[in-house]
Amino acid sequence: MSEEIEEIKRRIDIVDLVSSYLKLKKVGTSYKALCPFHQETQPSFYVSPEKQIFKCFGCGKGGSIFDFIMEMEGLEFPEAVKFLAERAGVKLKKFEKEEYRKDQELKLRLYRLNRLAASFFHKILIGKPKAQFVRDYLEKRRISQESIERFFLGYAPASYDLLSNFLKTKGSSLLDAQQAGLVMPSEKKKGEYYDRFRDRLMFPICDLLGNVVGFSGRAMHETEAGKYINSPDTLIYSKSKLLYGLDKTKQAIKEKGEVIIVEGQMDLISLFQHGYQNVVAPCGTALTSFQLSILRRFTKTVAFAFDQDKAGQAATRRAIELAHQMGFEVKIIVIPFGKDPDECLRENPQLWEKAVAGQMNAVDYYFEKAKEKMGQKQDAFVKREIVQDLLPLIKNLGDSVLQAHYVQQLSLLVDVPEKFLYEALEKITSEREEPISEVAFPRPKVNIEERLVGLVLFMPEFQADFFNRINYQDFKDPKLQNLVLKLKEVYNQNVSFNLSSIKKRFPRLATTIDFLILPFESNPGEETLHREYQEYLARFLAAKNEKIQKEYEEKIKEAEAAGDRVKIKKLIREFQEKIIRKDGPTNK
Ligand SMILES: [Zn+2]
Repeated sequence: MSEEIEEIKRRIDIVDLVSSYLKLKKVGTSYKALCPFHQETQPSFYVSPEKQIFKCFGCGKGGSIFDFIMEMEGLEFPEAVKFLAERAGVKLKKFEKEEYRKDQELKLRLYRLNRLAASFFHKILIGKPKAQFVRDYLEKRRISQESIERFFLGYAPASYDLLSNFLKTKGSSLLDAQQAGLVMPSEKKKGEYYDRFRDRLMFPICDLLGNVVGFSGRAMHETEAGKYINSPDTLIYSKSKLLYGLDKTKQAIKEKGEVIIVEGQMDLISLFQHGYQNVVAPCGTALTSFQLSILRRFTKTVAFAFDQDKAGQAATRRAIELAHQMGFEVKIIVIPFGKDPDECLRENPQLWEKAVAGQMNAVDYYFEKAKEKMGQKQDAFVKREIVQDLLPLIKNLGDSVLQAHYVQQLSLLVDVPEKFLYEALEKITSEREEPISEVAFPRPKVNIEERLVGLVLFMPEFQADFFNRINYQDFKDPKLQNLVLKLKEVYNQNVSFNLSSIKKRFPRLATTIDFLILPFESNPGEETLHREYQEYLARFLAAKNEKIQKEYEEKIKEAEAAGDRVKIKKLIREFQEKIIRKDGPTNK
């Protein structure tokens, strides 16, 4: 096996592979991109062609081509090997690991359970008298018989055990059914389960190959549980990675060269019925970069079809910015009178056709909105608001021709010289980044420990200061503790060390070291490196001091409770010494 893996590695270049999913930008000897595995506005995902590895410093994911494919395609290691072997044209001898086989078997059982449940719900919907009111409802919503079949709609009756009992008669284990998200364990009776979906119109959610992997259920009567509930994430279903309908619409998306994004399943089915088959709907989340990276395999143009109100909302705006960053052309289909696509199609299909024909470039759309806001007033504060709203969007376009075009437009609109707008544009990243990410999607923190060790490895001149102030026990991550301990030993022997000597000496740590220095290899310049070192060091020490402080607060409280004044004094002195000694008097 290992020979075959080596052969695949030789034949597939990680930069080529990652490029087929993400837009990479060259920086120094590496490449970077927005991480597909977490939400971010500034790229912290790096690929090193030299070392054939990737690493995200936002979420920590990293590894070889195999790790990348496992994450990206949701595959287990052996599947990823098969996937890449095919791409590389390497023939594999058959192999299967016990662990993998077990997982595979569970997956197959979960697929089967979901399929069983889907046909159970479907049969009830189309045949049972108690589902008549659901059929009436669908007719009222003009959902055709053909659509009910194609999307395999169903009805989960208002019962706690109908599905569970059915699955039992089919010889399925309810423990598996729980893992499939179909039933939930009873709190009162141990070992018993009850149905998750009750009195709901059921939309099966399929993966790209058309396997049912989960459900979205729409309440048929008022309920506290919410109008829509979805399957929880399971071994085969992750709602931030799947797009409703894509298994049935991917071909049309490819052919049309555009994908229409709608909000709900009803919108999607309605559009499909009316011949607009290049459409997807996220399953109850805002569009994620993962979902966008899947869509990129089929098209480079996305069109958001939300009502006016939604287009103004932060989540939509955020999805639009993400799509821009990933190199999509982004359009907006504006549906008049605040309607959603389904309503619009039912009431006035011509109006919808007009809206699609008149779809606007997203930036133009926000410009139109700004013009309305501005009116005749020429109010300075309104101008500022407009500039603050539009500039980040322009910045996001990346392309300098597009940027120049829109800066000019903006200059005309608010009657401010382009020069000032360009200055503001330059400043934008640092000022805008924090508020956006905090409000919409919290950005994972930079791993200070990793960065700090990376800097010390990359810049030998930091070593003396670093080892003077920091012990290996101060690190939380055991892997880093181990590395810092080893480095310290070498440092003590040789006074100073360099990268290649360290890697030679600890060959098993070479990959870890490669990861750690990756962000600095773009050579950001000495000044930046020094500033970063000071910043990470300060944050590291602050975190550590906080820990010490908590420790001593506890101890002092205890001593106070015991009335031991001598001990209190001693503890306070100890505490002050600890903080001062490690931190240097200036940082106290
Ligand atoms: Zn990441």
